[in-house]
Amino acid sequence: MCLRRISNNYYNQYKIYFVSNGIDYIDNSNFLVSGSHDEINQLFTINNSVDSINLYIIEKLWDSHVGYTNSISTNNVAVLRDYIFNSTTPHEIGHALGLYHTHEDSNKVKLDGSDCSISGDLICDTPPDPGLNEENVVNCKYVGDSRYNPLVDNLMSYSPCRTKLTNGQVWRIRQTIKNNEVIRKTLNTTHELNFINWKFDKSSSVCLNQSKTFILENIPTDCFVTWKVSDNITIKTSNNSSVEINLNNLNFESYLKAILLIDSRFYTFYLRLNQLEHPLESNLTLESFKSTPIYLGRFTNITARYNSIIDVGQLGYTWEWSVPSSQVIYHSPNYSYIHVSPIGTPSSLYIQVKASNECGCTNWKGKWFKVEPAPDDCIDCPTKGGEIHY
Ligand SMILES: [Zn+2]
Repeated sequence: MCLRRISNNYYNQYKIYFVSNGIDYIDNSNFLVSGSHDEINQLFTINNSVDSINLYIIEKLWDSHVGYTNSISTNNVAVLRDYIFNSTTPHEIGHALGLYHTHEDSNKVKLDGSDCSISGDLICDTPPDPGLNEENVVNCKYVGDSRYNPLVDNLMSYSPCRTKLTNGQVWRIRQTIKNNEVIRKTLNTTHELNFINWKFDKSSSVCLNQSKTFILENIPTDCFVTWKVSDNITIKTSNNSSVEINLNNLNFESYLKAILLIDSRFYTFYLRLNQLEHPLESNLTLESFKSTPIYLGRFTNITARYNSIIDVGQLGYTWEWSVPSSQVIYHSPNYSYIHVSPIGTPSSLYIQVKASNECGCTNWKGKWFKVEPAPDDCIDCPTKGGEIHY
């Protein structure tokens, strides 16, 4: 709706976004005019929502005020109806998000070169501002006291040309959003949830009888985390953002869940765990194409199997080979076969292989293969030259 758009028009350029959390109507004309701090603070107790910045639209405030916040860093803002669509609303939102006026009283101290981080608006890239108005800002040019060189476009001034924030102001807003208890609660939680993600070493695999730590990143600071695991896993240690688990046996399904309690709602983050074992050479076998010898002048396929299975990437192993004096064609390191063509005329070749994964590595597994000339009438056997016969 329009109010959201008004603030977004000013703030989106700094990657700060507002979403509407609904509109209420307060059916009581007594609150149209607030004649004092007490009266406006009473209004701020009505239909107030802690998970939003509450913008109250009224008709009149005391003196000539056109907007009001009950403090710096607050979720309560009031703006006069006639000013709601100009820079007053984003200016008041600036106060709500932790910004002082650029002409904040002691700001003049900045002229003495005193520490800008503890005087004035507490921001170092806003120059001293004597207090801007329609007399000392003409056609968006400052024409007042020449000791000053204020920003006439700064949203937190009283300049008629205010539209912008400085980097320092944007930084202070981000600090407020991050650290202020009241403002943190107004964050759009579903948006915040997008930043939570799993972090782990190498992959989401776990090794049998080995421990591994999983971290959930970007959890909101005031959020409580409960960890849950499948039956075959035990939790060794945990805190509010990480968990160390041990895989005790292989199961149909292994998982890790983090259940987050945010603003009295539960959110579950599920991680399916790939189960791995330390590979053993006793499970490895080696064979040649159709159990033929390795033929001279041809590329013969040598295949390793793990538990009788040829790995074409699905088992997750990395395969390493040791082949004496031969031309060798390797494929993916995750594939368990190679093509071998002997150099010279050896009578046999001792070929070795080993498999490794995140859990560890087998010892070398070797096998002797006979080497022979290919039969003249060899049709269904490894082909000549570079052509590969599977
Ligand atoms: Zn103000």
